[in-house]
Amino acid sequence: MATRTIVVVEDEASIASAIAARLRSEGFAVEVAGDGLEGVDLCQRVRPDLVVLDLMLPGIDGLEVCRRIQKDRPVPVIMLTARDSETDLLVGLAVGADDYLTKPFSPRELVARIHAVLRRMERTGVLPGPSVTIGDVELEPATRRVRRAGEAVHLTPTEFDLLHFLASRQGAVLTRDQLLAEVWGYRDGSGARTVDSHVRDLRRKLGADLIRTVHGVGYAVDIEATA
Ligand code: CA
Repeated sequence: MATRTIVVVEDEASIASAIAARLRSEGFAVEVAGDGLEGVDLCQRVRPDLVVLDLMLPGIDGLEVCRRIQKDRPVPVIMLTARDSETDLLVGLAVGADDYLTKPFSPRELVARIHAVLRRMERTGVLPGPSVTIGDVELEPATRRVRRAGEAVHLTPTEFDLLHFLASRQGAVLTRDQLLAEVWGYRDGSGARTVDSHVRDLRRKLGADLIRTVHGVGYAVDIEATA
């Protein structure tokens, strides 16, 4: 997987360095700016995949930073605010923030939100991920094209998302609940049969060995299956 770059714009140095350390430990490349103008410059320079942006900043505030960096090109933004105010939320979303976290938040929650936003961006094509190969099957997220041994195969959007999600976590066993939450956005655990029927369709189109059933648990794409 290509390394994702995240810009953190936060004037409180202790919070900024804690966030940066956590994100680096998650495998992200991280750049930090301590005020709004520096944040805008940094975004223009490094063209990050995502921005973690504090709302209350000296100089120009987070909303203005958000406007300026979005003018350049669309980039996912997660806003941080000390105030749990509905107005902030609405204004923030209006200027193009993708998600919101009120301080104090756990680093774990921030990481979860970042992964969710990046996945959403990849899914909608705003942020195409790198292509993924599983045996003789190649997935190209930028165009959502799938080839098996060089031959184009048609997948439905959900089939593509499901296979891409499994393939991006090669070696991991994913439960039906996890797949429903991440691919379908269902959080109530309903629809386990939906997963099974999509896996069946994928096997029919791309080969029975593509996805392994882990009985009583869920599904996996094995690392050995990848080229
Ligand atoms: Ca601040």
